[in-house]
Amino acid sequence: MRIILIGPPGAGKGTQAVRLAAHLSIPHISTGDLFRAHMNQGDQLGRTADVAVRAGLLVPDEVTIAMIEERLARPDTEGGFLLDGFPRNLAQAQALDALLAGARSRLDSVLDLEIPESQVVSRIAGRRLCREDREHIFHLDHSPPRVAGTCDVCGGELYQRDDDHEATVRRRLEVYRADTAPVVDHYRGQGLVTRISALGSVEEVLDRALAAIGQGEAQGHGLPSK
Ligand code: AMP
Repeated sequence: MRIILIGPPGAGKGTQAVRLAAHLSIPHISTGDLFRAHMNQGDQLGRTADVAVRAGLLVPDEVTIAMIEERLARPDTEGGFLLDGFPRNLAQAQALDALLAGARSRLDSVLDLEIPESQVVSRIAGRRLCREDREHIFHLDHSPPRVAGTCDVCGGELYQRDDDHEATVRRRLEVYRADTAPVVDHYRGQGLVTRISALGSVEEVLDRALAAIGQGEAQGHGLPSK
């Protein structure tokens, strides 16, 4: 399946993307994670992305689109992929449409995670990530680690992302409203969008997402099997 997960900062895209991709056995492709990996390496792409990421602004389209083209050209995406954080504006959505059309491929679904704006800042302020594995994500209130500051899964140190501080979160939310919300309309026009409430437990949201893509009766997610 080829899926896009979209939603404002704090909706839990990363948390859900990891679980959905594992469930569907498809690669989880997060442009934010890719930028952060380049920034950690200190390479040319990382240096280009650094200023925009720290400011909560979008990295220029030509850089982002080239990076995603390179990623989607890898063989592990042949059976599908889950995009998390891309496309973030209409130009990126059009570039993706063209890329898929050129490969005689198409999207199956766009999942639009919804959360009231009033919840965004508090949800992000409590978020903590593991230094050892970007997919180990915790929240001080909603999914706290058993030992403060330590990853339950691998024992790595937990930290707060630089761009998770309040002023930057507010800027990211403005960018979402102005640039990314129109992407949802773009895909709604193609009949691909399902809205999903991001409220509730991680498992509840995952069940909704799986149901939206016709996988709701999968084992282990609390729904009856066929
Ligand atoms: P995320 O981890 O998805 O919240 O992304 C973190 C930051 O990476 C964003 O605030 C942007 O600065 C940058 N970023 C991620 N995805 C994109 C994208 N598709 N286009 C431009 N910038 C992006």
